[in-house]
Amino acid sequence: MENSDAELKQKIISLRKRRNAIILAHNYQLGEVQDVADFVGDSLELSQKAAKTDADVIVFCGVHFMAETASILCPDKVVLLPDIHAGCPMADMITAEGLRERKRGLPGAIVVCYINSSAEVKAESDVCCTSANAVKVIESLDTEAILFVPDQYLGHYISTETDKRISLWPGFCPTHIRIQPQYIAKLKQEYPQAKVVVHPECRPEVIALADEVLSTGGLCRYANRSEVKEIIVGTEIGIIHRLRKENRDKKFIPASEQAICPRMKLITLESVLWSLQEMSPEVKVPEETRLKAKAAVDKMLETGRS
Ligand code: SF4
Repeated sequence: MENSDAELKQKIISLRKRRNAIILAHNYQLGEVQDVADFVGDSLELSQKAAKTDADVIVFCGVHFMAETASILCPDKVVLLPDIHAGCPMADMITAEGLRERKRGLPGAIVVCYINSSAEVKAESDVCCTSANAVKVIESLDTEAILFVPDQYLGHYISTETDKRISLWPGFCPTHIRIQPQYIAKLKQEYPQAKVVVHPECRPEVIALADEVLSTGGLCRYANRSEVKEIIVGTEIGIIHRLRKENRDKKFIPASEQAICPRMKLITLESVLWSLQEMSPEVKVPEETRLKAKAAVDKMLETGRS
């Protein structure tokens, strides 16, 4: 007989305790997975949480690069990714070898790498950033020439917020590019009082129509604090679950119902339970790569503290 969600959650909670595990979930996870997590947040918040936890096991409900980041920061902990196929297509659009080649053509440029990248790519980079701190990280650098990888749209957005000279890598998020400017224009007509909040992974034509451009963590804080009653949400629709749960009096309208990341949705309550039972699949970054990648991640976290 199949377990109900309530039974699965109960089993996960008791096993989590036995394993001294913490469950971290990204804002794009399925609602039921968010509900069983100890902490739900964006990439920056989750990496900060991973860096501080005293749990022995981190169950990462997100995609592969996020589990790798946890392994980079916490080499002594067991980091589990409940479905090993949960990779990020944007992160797969760049390799360490490809980055090395591009660097050779841009001598003197500082490489800023979006956290949505593999540990090998981070290891080839000078500093990491997330969508929450990208502008701050880039502004903190005392060089003018930057190579930003792999998201061309986040890189383009940053270039509109800073005077630095930014070279781009042609990567993109297949989920965020599904959000089209005409969808936003139509919704603005339908909901004239609504504010439009979009993620910086969106196309520039979509960003041009936004009232706010925010990371998912920034969007949650904006929704909690602002007086606005209606928000058109231009990011992956998994976040709507959290927004509605935390703001029952507000209306959240997805900019596109098609903005779904299939890889994020691979993590289910069943896979979380199985992962805790089997202590698998484990994500572990080899030490040589880890140390180089950690230098880039640490530099980002230090910028966040300054
Ligand atoms: S939403 Fe986009 S960037 Fe985020 S994990 Fe999915 S494919 Fe990668």
